[in-house]
Amino acid sequence: SILRRRPHVALLCSPGVGHLIPRLHGFSVTLLANPLGSSAAIPPLLPVDGLPFRFVPLPDTPPDAGPPTQSSSPVPRIVRAVTCNLPHVRAALDSAGPPVDALVVDMFSVDALDVARERRVPCYMFFTSPCTCLALLRHVPALHEAVRGEFAGPVRPPGCAPVRPEDLLDSLRDRTGEAYAAILRVTRRFGEVEGFLVNSFEELEPGAFAALNGGEARGPPVYPVGPLVRTGRVEPGEECLIRWLDRQPPGSVVFVSFGSGGTLSREQTRELALGLEASGHRFLWAAKSPVEGRAHGAFFGGRNGPAAEYLPAGFAERTGGVGLAVARWAPQAAVLGQAAVGGFVTHCGWNSALESIASGVPMIAWPLYAEQRMNAAMLADEAGVALRPQRLMEGQQGEALRTRTRLLRDAAARAVAEGGSSFRALHDLANKWRLAAH
Ligand code: UDP
Repeated sequence: SILRRRPHVALLCSPGVGHLIPRLHGFSVTLLANPLGSSAAIPPLLPVDGLPFRFVPLPDTPPDAGPPTQSSSPVPRIVRAVTCNLPHVRAALDSAGPPVDALVVDMFSVDALDVARERRVPCYMFFTSPCTCLALLRHVPALHEAVRGEFAGPVRPPGCAPVRPEDLLDSLRDRTGEAYAAILRVTRRFGEVEGFLVNSFEELEPGAFAALNGGEARGPPVYPVGPLVRTGRVEPGEECLIRWLDRQPPGSVVFVSFGSGGTLSREQTRELALGLEASGHRFLWAAKSPVEGRAHGAFFGGRNGPAAEYLPAGFAERTGGVGLAVARWAPQAAVLGQAAVGGFVTHCGWNSALESIASGVPMIAWPLYAEQRMNAAMLADEAGVALRPQRLMEGQQGEALRTRTRLLRDAAARAVAEGGSSFRALHDLANKWRLAAH
């Protein structure tokens, strides 16, 4: 028949706002989302204009699902939530209308490979961190066998730049922890996927892509498909921020935000406030209530009190007109797209980094948790678009960084534009799925 059915892709996401960003044109898409009481709202599900799209919220993990976890890391909880929901994934695949031609999971959802296999659906992974990080994670099972005790020296994923032990993912730093066990378990299954779709692009981390796809590489192919970033949507009530930015000179404002989950301690919050004030630079700060001892405190039900409770006394009055501290949430992608923004103090969550690069805004790296220290090292030392906390807004180093970031902004735009490297990679894959559908 000439009437061909639209290929159907199911995307399975573990909790966390940052993971909900993939887009696929010309497909019909089912998004299966694990909530896990994430405090962050599910973002507007982007470019779905005209896309047959079905959203299947999966149930929150029942409180009696297995023993309570002792880990301070969210990873074991996330993996468990996904595993508990596999029967719902199976049911959703079976009832998804047209048959599913590909299942795309994220790194915490690899257990869904079993469901994919039962249903004879090829399973791919959408990797929401840099390719550099994928290279490290692919190496984890081998590393586990080769090294006893803590990772003391630099870790060298084959063909990649060495990773300093202090930059390793939180979960890898304590090998006796539940988080380590969870990471080991998921990374051992990485080799079973048909391919990795990485939300990054070749020009940003050419070394890592070459290492994973080059002649000597073994394992599933790696497709650079990014940067896929959220659109700069501004919700009602947020326009005043954009209007404020509109009134500031180009490149003059430092934007400060630690993602949907990142939190500082009381002491760090105070230091940051005093630092911003002393710098005299204009700033826009998406401030959150401090949480002691947990860099990812806001993810799972953190509360956010009024800024006056945790900012130094008189801060708002003294910085009025120069800076703006908003409680908790700013329309980040839109903010980064404003000409007034000249720098971004970020926790280096990968979506934040990509949004910054896509807007040509250089970063000051203040990594907090998960793989963020590794992202920071790559952004600063390899890609040349970030500084460790230093003088970004002044001096020559800042200027060089701005130039480099703009170059990569243009490269990013080319990569996802028609005919670009990421565009082609995603297209090749889509064609494969299309063929499978017919
Ligand atoms: N974000 C936002 N406003 C905020 C904080 C975060 O819009 O005040 C968005 C940001 O644009 C990004 C996502 O939330 O798309 C955060 O993802 P990222 O991977 O950077 O960090 P995570 O929240 O996963 O730590």
